Amino acid sequence: MSESVVIVTGGSRGIGAAAALRLAAPGTTVLLTYVSSPARADEVVAGIEARGGRAVALQADVASEADCLKTFAEADRLGRLTGLVNNAGVVDVAAPLTDMSFERFRRIFDVNVLGTMVCAREAVKRMSTAGGGKGGAIVNLSSASAKLGSPSQYIDYAAAKGAVDTFTVGLAKEVAREGIRVNAVRPGIIETEIHASGGDPDRAARMASDLPMGRAGTAEECAEAIAWLLSDAASYTSGAILDVSGARAIVP
Ligand code: NAP
Repeated sequence: MSESVVIVTGGSRGIGAAAALRLAAPGTTVLLTYVSSPARADEVVAGIEARGGRAVALQADVASEADCLKTFAEADRLGRLTGLVNNAGVVDVAAPLTDMSFERFRRIFDVNVLGTMVCAREAVKRMSTAGGGKGGAIVNLSSASAKLGSPSQYIDYAAAKGAVDTFTVGLAKEVAREGIRVNAVRPGIIETEIHASGGDPDRAARMASDLPMGRAGTAEECAEAIAWLLSDAASYTSGAILDVSGARAIVP
């Protein structure tokens, strides 16, 4: 049995895959989940193993409580849970509010908010020193859209990420004396396939010249922030929402 287990939800592609690879280390098992990309998840597992770490890929939809429970049962089998990266997130095609269906609202909130909350709940149960655990760290993936609001595009997604921010702050305070730190990373425009799933695969490249740094960010740049927030180097950082946006959406 390895010393520690870190769960990365949605670890088959994009920021989650980069985070899973960044967290590879001897003595750590990365448990990464996915929904529809088993081959991509297997590639990440192989990449982690090539770096001397251990990894397991599990098909589990964070919008399903049963799948979340299955993920944590697998983590229990692998070792002691020390970290959770609530990375799985989805957008839908750009649209004004009046064109958004109830089913769309449901999916956006089920994945981005309820998935994050259920996984955090299960992590706290295992990590809390009040419940006999040894502590740990949680990192939630928010979005700059939580501050920008994404009008006429993804107002539902932006509102869901606003909920992630509030949840991060509240949970950080709730478990601060239980050995658990809770933080969020708030990416700006990052080059991943999420833009294609929003119907606009060239979005990051097209917006690049208008961004403060003249470029989009990379998944690896987000992974660095995630890894730091999970690490003991961030021992007094909790309740923080770290913008990894190249100065986009910074409100003084
Ligand atoms: P991505 O490239 O679309 O990858 C999404 C990952 O999540 C994939 O591994 C996917 O698995 C998985 N996933 C999707 N729905 C899931 C579900 N219901 N349950 C479990 N896993 C699921 O996305 P990304 O750009 O890396 O985004 C990662 C996080 O950063 C998200 O929370 C997103 O909202 C946030 N973010 C991204 C950006 C950006 O510009 N990229 C900006 C701000 C915030 P499959 O491969 O199986 O589909």
